[in-house]
Amino acid sequence: MKKQLLLATRNQHKKRELQELLADMEVEILTLEDVDAIPEVEEDGDTFEANAVKKACATALATGILSLADDSGLEVDALQGKPGVYSARFAGEHASDEENNNKLLKLMESVPDEKRSARFVSVIAICDAHGVVKTVRGECSGTIARVPAGSGGFGYDPLFIPNGYKQTYAQLSAAEKNRISHRGAALSKALPVLKEYWAARRS
Ligand code: IMP
Repeated sequence: MKKQLLLATRNQHKKRELQELLADMEVEILTLEDVDAIPEVEEDGDTFEANAVKKACATALATGILSLADDSGLEVDALQGKPGVYSARFAGEHASDEENNNKLLKLMESVPDEKRSARFVSVIAICDAHGVVKTVRGECSGTIARVPAGSGGFGYDPLFIPNGYKQTYAQLSAAEKNRISHRGAALSKALPVLKEYWAARRS
């Protein structure tokens, strides 16, 4: 049986990161551009888990292909976990990364250094053609910088300094970010789930 995995994301940056992270697997990685158009999924869940499951299952059931979706975001302690599931649209429905970052910096203006802790969360859902779904969660803890730094990555990368580093995510190489990132952590938990799925299909 040919092993195929469909990445259920329209975010080009996330897609590239997932492709890099999955590069060693002997599997054909498909994206939404490789399949017939499927209806847009509204990310209206209260949790990363709910949104990831919704995206993965809608894609798997529409295509019949094992599908992987990531729902991710930034939780800032001084903002009681915001922007959380609203990370992509923190400053408004079609807000740019820059607008989201500016809003975050403004809200954090008076927050002292020792209270700028935050974490990136990635929940990956894997759903098969029958709607059987599993989720895994990865996190990366760090702090929110006072000014943006770096030009790599996307989203809140220029403002997030992972614990143990002096640079932001946006100043790290793609390989270094993948090694420590929330998405990398979630994906390393997802690999056994994928292997188990394919092993069961072979027997
Ligand atoms: P999603 O597409 O609903 O999962 O939204 C994810 C949003 O969270 C993105 O649009 C970014 O704002 C933010 N985000 C998730 N992962 C990252 C990352 O690795 N770096 C920076 N921002 C991220």
